[in-house]
Amino acid sequence: MGKKEKKKDKTKKSGDAGKSAKAGAKQKLPWYADGLRFECSQCGDCCTGEPGYVWVDEAEITAMAVEMEMDFEAFERKFVRRVGRDKSLIEYPDGDCILLDPRTRKCTVYAARPIQCRTWPFWDSNLKKKKDWKETCEVCPGSGTGRLYSFEEIEAARKQKSV
Ligand code: SF4
Repeated sequence: MGKKEKKKDKTKKSGDAGKSAKAGAKQKLPWYADGLRFECSQCGDCCTGEPGYVWVDEAEITAMAVEMEMDFEAFERKFVRRVGRDKSLIEYPDGDCILLDPRTRKCTVYAARPIQCRTWPFWDSNLKKKKDWKETCEVCPGSGTGRLYSFEEIEAARKQKSV
């Protein structure tokens, strides 16, 4: 599992529906109920590497366009591609995100970055099992270190978008 691919990939909706069926019988807290540590070092690794997707909707495109002081259409023409009925940020041929500054390796829309980037690493796919989180920590130097996020904070991030 590549971190970059994982971060960008659109994965199947996870557990909530299935879990809710069992919830009535037995309410069991997720394995990360005591919280998890994360502090982004802004190394940029998750915005590079293997091809993948950063899914964006109209509100996210609008926010990024405002951040770049561009109009919506111009931003979309330059940075967004259609994938079926959805939209994703364009990548350079080497897999770098189009919005990653090639010189500084920093995100050029960081303050207005999409939910998928904002909620990393607290994604369904990274939290399913302890081993998923362990793999996330192996590919993201900020995961597993730094500030302790509470269970509530993790869940608030996780539920913003199913990734
Ligand atoms: S520390 Fe993790 S989340 Fe932050 S830029 Fe690096 S890989 Fe991405």
